[in-house]
Amino acid sequence: MQYDLIIRNGTVIDGSGLPRYRADVGIARGKIARIGKLRDSAKEVLDADGQVVAPGFIDAHTHMDAQVFWDPLGTCSCWHGITSVVMGNCGFSLAPCGEKDKLLVMRNLERAEDIAPEAMEAGIKWSWTTFPEYLEAVEKLPKGINYAAYMGHSALRTYVMGERAFSEAASERDLKAMKREVRSAIRAGAIGFTTSRTRNHQTPDGQPVASRLATWEEVKQLVGVMGELNAGVFEIAGEDTGLAPERIQDYLDRLKALAVETGVPVTFGMFSNRKAPDYWRPFFTLADETAAAGGRMFVQVHSRSLNVVLSFETVTPFDKLPVWCDIRKLPLVEQEAKLRDPEIRRQLIEAIYQTPRDRNRKVGPEPRAANFKWLFVMDKANPPHRSIAEIAAEQNKDPVEVFIDAALEKHLKQFFLQPLANENQDHVLEMMKNPRSVVTFSDSGAHVSQIMDSSLQTHLLSHWVREKQAVTLEEAVRMLSFIPASHWGLRGRGLLREGWAADAVVFDPDSISPMLPELAYDLPAGARRLKQKAAGIMATVVNGAVVLRNNEPTGALPGQLLRGPLARR
Ligand SMILES: [Zn+2]
Repeated sequence: MQYDLIIRNGTVIDGSGLPRYRADVGIARGKIARIGKLRDSAKEVLDADGQVVAPGFIDAHTHMDAQVFWDPLGTCSCWHGITSVVMGNCGFSLAPCGEKDKLLVMRNLERAEDIAPEAMEAGIKWSWTTFPEYLEAVEKLPKGINYAAYMGHSALRTYVMGERAFSEAASERDLKAMKREVRSAIRAGAIGFTTSRTRNHQTPDGQPVASRLATWEEVKQLVGVMGELNAGVFEIAGEDTGLAPERIQDYLDRLKALAVETGVPVTFGMFSNRKAPDYWRPFFTLADETAAAGGRMFVQVHSRSLNVVLSFETVTPFDKLPVWCDIRKLPLVEQEAKLRDPEIRRQLIEAIYQTPRDRNRKVGPEPRAANFKWLFVMDKANPPHRSIAEIAAEQNKDPVEVFIDAALEKHLKQFFLQPLANENQDHVLEMMKNPRSVVTFSDSGAHVSQIMDSSLQTHLLSHWVREKQAVTLEEAVRMLSFIPASHWGLRGRGLLREGWAADAVVFDPDSISPMLPELAYDLPAGARRLKQKAAGIMATVVNGAVVLRNNEPTGALPGQLLRGPLARR
């Protein structure tokens, strides 16, 4: 047999959790044709001696809806072994929406997801109104990796209700129109429907995004459409229940009833939090209870703490304070000079201690007022990182001085980490190992200058597998491939099996690791973003073609639109 590609001599970890074995993987016409000892020839051969050959990783929590128009490779995710993503999470999609209303939809995305409107304006050729038309547009785009798309509630509501979506409950007529759109989206291959009820999701003028105006009844009716069609996953950026037990219980009850009554798989992200360390636990119990009652529910978890990544190049926690705000307006080189001036330093430090704490509520990953115990110097990609407070105590210095000196040492390009959630790594591990969990939630494509979680997969493989030996490589690969593929129903993906799609990642288990992030101004219209690559990945294969070799693009763009079950072609 003539293969298009043979990956020779690698160690196959097939995604199922079964133990590794040595074999060649033969690929033809985009599929895995044969796994074994292959003596045939191929147009292209990769020598994977000493490397692991795994199914391509799947990230089901991204916001690449806009980015897919200007970045076919799906960076930064593709640099971490990702071959398929799901976009349209948290109620944010770009359809349904006609071009004349695009600013309304962008308003939902701008602050909630930190996607620069000028990048969207410059980078997207708007050619759709309905969700099926959006899918057609994505289908036609050149793509390095595979994309599946949810329809988002905020876009849907804005499409049907216009400006009223930001202020009113839906009328019977609105609801009927919304249900019709959900039906046609799912039939056309939307992977599901998403919403947000979290106060972290605001528009630039501080108003709730459109989906937050919906009653629970509206949510139920829309999810119910997927139930009738027996297709689609429902993702929700959860309600802010606060800590009152009865409010938490009320929310849990509603989620469970929704899953059981509609039969639609319900999923949401869950994090531990130092301010409410056990808040997450009932949500995992709920997933078990929901299954026992006849529904489906799975919980999206992260592989490390959720960090805001700060630097003088982007934002610091002090930018709004007196003295600081004047200096922070200057070009970086001038800031550097000022920060070296002892008198100005004294004023900067004084400003921090004398200004009353900023009481404005921060939303999502906006930087918080600094607590030096929870501000870390990101001197390497993986933990442990040392806190400013710790270094200050050790050097007997003021923490602000430590912060400024660390930044100066790298000419203000030093990154700092400010964890917002998942501070407790024992919790992180426990959540990842819960059988109702799926390790995802990079938020790739969103928060592009605030967080950098596209590396959560390589973090799992380097930190938890290699450094901590808390997860076996077989378990980790399964977490990143078979489990997400199964939950989102990505047919024929997520395992290395003959006849399945040839999505694969070839990596060195001894060196795979995220690298330090950097700041780039490479979005359309020159908007900025954090970029983070990985070391130790020899090849990333999508639908049988090598898309990245040593993490550099080959120019191949074999990615596909992955349609949901009612529209598979
Ligand atoms: Zn999200």
